[in-house]
Amino acid sequence: MRVTWSGTTGATGMELSFRLDPEDEITGKASDDYPVKLATNSCSIGGTPADAHPDLFALAAWTIVAPWTRKQITFDRAISPGLAQALHDGWGIEAGPVGAEPRPAGSTLAISYSGGADSVAAATMYAEAPFVHFRRVAHPRIPNRWTHYRSDVLAELAAQTGRELAMVTSDLEFTLAEPRPGYPEHHAVAAGALLLADRLNLGALGFGYELGSRWLGGDRYLGHFTPDNRMWAAHGAWGRLFAAVGVHIVLPVGGVSEAVTMRLALESGLKDQVRWCLRGTDGPCRVCGKCLYKELIQAAVERRPLDTPLTAKSKPAQKWLERPPYGGQEMVEYGLARIPDIEHTLFAKALDYFDATEESTSWLDHCYPPAIDEIPPRWRDQANAFITANVGYMTPDEIRRVETWGL
Ligand SMILES: [Zn+2]
Repeated sequence: MRVTWSGTTGATGMELSFRLDPEDEITGKASDDYPVKLATNSCSIGGTPADAHPDLFALAAWTIVAPWTRKQITFDRAISPGLAQALHDGWGIEAGPVGAEPRPAGSTLAISYSGGADSVAAATMYAEAPFVHFRRVAHPRIPNRWTHYRSDVLAELAAQTGRELAMVTSDLEFTLAEPRPGYPEHHAVAAGALLLADRLNLGALGFGYELGSRWLGGDRYLGHFTPDNRMWAAHGAWGRLFAAVGVHIVLPVGGVSEAVTMRLALESGLKDQVRWCLRGTDGPCRVCGKCLYKELIQAAVERRPLDTPLTAKSKPAQKWLERPPYGGQEMVEYGLARIPDIEHTLFAKALDYFDATEESTSWLDHCYPPAIDEIPPRWRDQANAFITANVGYMTPDEIRRVETWGL
């Protein structure tokens, strides 16, 4: 793989183009083993400066081209030996040319802010942290078959938070043909934040990944306890790679469930800007799969009946009529145990598969302590104080629920 950055900062930002080597393949695998197919070999990032440490350019590019790189990568400017080593250790990739001084870590933690409940909860923990918001824009050569994704609405909400905000615009999601436009690696959401790292003096970037994604093998791969999570563990391949460029990955809410992030978000000063639905304009659409899943969590947190126009015949409901396991299963159990009259809703069938009680799901109301331990010392005390005051830590029994999940 060969990558080249071009352009100057301004309306069109920086353009990344990349060329596959003979051994590279059009269909690659993201770090969670999910197959992803390449659509095109260029993309742009706006709202970022043209000057940054070469390691930042290299890592920003890697978040985009990693799935399709098999053996080696050649950057258009020399990188530090530490970054080359981290790429070799994590992926077995030869990276070069080598010859830059390492970038020292800055002192600021910024939040990679999406506006969803998890992201808002992470932001609440670090009330003074600036936001970097990634906004999808159209690609000049790839038709947008996903027009219902209202990135403009999410950007507007981010602007209303009152936080210091850096808005990054990018069409990088259109480098992906399949499964749909999206981040080639989950970390590509940080590509713009990385290019801004010198400007913002970043030493850390906080993401809204919660307990399920960090420790339970949630999201696109199914659940079992994953202490060595390749994507989000501080000691994982990506964690060490980000650390090598002086931008530590921090998961402020990595120890708590989506029930806790939902509660924290709805109790926070940012509650009017919370939006997990990618489709709605004046509010959440209420009929997509994500709205249904979040309604399950919100109803459980608020201990009220489920409020949805969807029925067991609706397409988003089909997933919950099948046998488990499924991603986010811990939150389904949590909801089944807490929502009044759940047996008269589209989740009735799921009751057959679980024997969930408030007691058996209480661990989802507390924080898994190792999640705070893996936050770098500079930012750990604040996380610990926040968790102690607002959430509370798991008991040894509850910790065991995490560490035996799916095993
Ligand atoms: Zn929706």
